[in-house]
Amino acid sequence: MLEKKSEFIIYPITVLQDNIVWVWVHNCNAVVIDPSISSPVEKWLLDKDLSLKAILQTHHHDDHIGGTQKLIKRWPNAKVVASKKELKRIPFQTFSVDDNDIFYLMDSEIKVIEVHGHTNNHIAFYISKANAKDNILFPGDTLFGGGCGRLLEGTPIQMFESLNRLNTLPENTRVYSAHEYTENNLKWALSLEPNNIYITERLQIVQNKLQNGMPSLPTTLSEERKTNLFLKAKNVEDFTALRRHKDCWKC
Ligand SMILES: [Zn+2]
Repeated sequence: MLEKKSEFIIYPITVLQDNIVWVWVHNCNAVVIDPSISSPVEKWLLDKDLSLKAILQTHHHDDHIGGTQKLIKRWPNAKVVASKKELKRIPFQTFSVDDNDIFYLMDSEIKVIEVHGHTNNHIAFYISKANAKDNILFPGDTLFGGGCGRLLEGTPIQMFESLNRLNTLPENTRVYSAHEYTENNLKWALSLEPNNIYITERLQIVQNKLQNGMPSLPTTLSEERKTNLFLKAKNVEDFTALRRHKDCWKC
């Protein structure tokens, strides 16, 4: 059993190559974000005697929705929250949302932020003042520690605007990205800015965490503003050049 069940807590379950399935726990209930696969998530929830209330889907890729249908078989009352524009690619959604929609789960208000770029109709979920203090962002594959998602469907302008949109959130927003890419992203950033002290220091902290079996995430928007070159891009031309460079870069 979890010790502090009344608190607002978010746990990582690391699966596949580098996916992180985040589990938000409140009292005896849980919300799962982008379950790549079902079995480790189901086992984790059952071990802790938690009931699944909802699954939040940021986009349609298999490594984000792959475990959803099996989890819903085990907890048939759990809602599947996804973009209403993705009814074809996420057909098992049961609670369809649109840009700027607000809905409520586990005593919290959640806002939907549409962030095209990695895919068309990708959405992020933002919880303002969760537990009366922290701001929480689940950006899916849009914003990573030190990086951003690849442009698999959208344009550079769309991704630049999506990142700018997320970057208007408060600096103390904790960011729960869906992949453990931070070390690679920071090594790339350091190859472009070898004298950047913030990136150097962050890379050391991240490598320490990873060596001790801890995820590098969550990050915060204030940390990203200092060390994420994509967030520092001044215009779409800068952003496009950075994205192209990263796409071809091998560490
Ligand atoms: Zn993806």
